[in-house]
Amino acid sequence: MLSEERPVPTRLRGWNRVIGQRRVKELLRRAIQTDQVAHAYIFIGPEGVGTDALALEFARVLNCEPGGTEACDQCASCRQMDILQHSNVRLVMPLPVGKNEKQGDDPIEVLTDDQIASVRGAIAAKAKDPYASIEIPRATSIKINSIRAIKREAALSRPERGRNIFVILRAEEMGADASNSLLKTLEEPPGDTVLLLTTMDRDALLPTIVSRCQQIQCERLSDDDLEEALTLRDGLEESLAHVVAQMAGGSYTAARDIVSSDVRSRRAEAVNFLRLVLGKQRIQMIQEVERLASDNDRPAMERWLRLLGGWLRDALVLREGRSVHAAAEDLQALQSFTSRFSVADLSGAVLRVERAIADLDKNLYLLLILTTLAMDLRRLIAEPGRE
Ligand SMILES: [Zn+2]
Repeated sequence: MLSEERPVPTRLRGWNRVIGQRRVKELLRRAIQTDQVAHAYIFIGPEGVGTDALALEFARVLNCEPGGTEACDQCASCRQMDILQHSNVRLVMPLPVGKNEKQGDDPIEVLTDDQIASVRGAIAAKAKDPYASIEIPRATSIKINSIRAIKREAALSRPERGRNIFVILRAEEMGADASNSLLKTLEEPPGDTVLLLTTMDRDALLPTIVSRCQQIQCERLSDDDLEEALTLRDGLEESLAHVVAQMAGGSYTAARDIVSSDVRSRRAEAVNFLRLVLGKQRIQMIQEVERLASDNDRPAMERWLRLLGGWLRDALVLREGRSVHAAAEDLQALQSFTSRFSVADLSGAVLRVERAIADLDKNLYLLLILTTLAMDLRRLIAEPGRE
């Protein structure tokens, strides 16, 4: 399953947290090496190519305690970056406007508890995955109060180590007043402060803002880089990663959307199959079995059976009173399903699906595999008393 937590492979540390973008990484490394870090950068690129990931990794490297051109991933600073709770690094992003918010108010403190919780949630998601998009309800623009806070906070805190860094995500969402305020900050950059802007739309920004930043153009990712990212980060099998990479147009987030929509619809299909197996309409069940087998696509059938098995395993885990990583809508279906069956029924069903997967390798007729699976599952969980 996509949402399952995996330990971070070593290949995903340091600059490798950012997919591809070798030219940009080299440019940033060289800036550090030659002590020529500019006071403002703007990372420009289409959605899903890693502008945010680059900015966040650059911020991490600039504050890493041992110094150097690559983050150590061990020091206190790197650990603070892991959760995006760093005293030197502040994130600026579109936020909802607070009730009665006045100029000069703290941009976060004016929000309701629910809104603050959703901001925290968005930051936590970004910390876990720099490619996560930030979704905060009613956050339509970057507020002038958020930009004003940059100057205030930069003046207030002079870090003992590292630099003050402000990462402005989706900079194109600044309105005219916020833009003008930022312009003033860029004209007289405070001390050791570094501003890192990211944007998908350079033309939506004031040209004077863009020209005062070092512009970093981020290209679309190559199919090879996407394929590697999908296998390494999302656990896709290589053949699927290959196809998805070809479909994604150089965007990692687009690739993941393709994967999850397919997985979601296939999962819905698996749940529907179980419903038919357990229901009274035998003819519909037989029709569904015939439809599923008609593609005659063994790898696809194997993935589908793994989904079905995964769903039953999740049901079993829930039935045992433990928690599972599942989407909210899945969880609801799972809970109504599990309440009706015993642990023994569910374990039997999981084993039966595993046998069907093994049967696929034996080159048995697909329709036969599925029909016997459906009948056995029905006997196991729908009519357990009859055996
Ligand atoms: Zn470090």
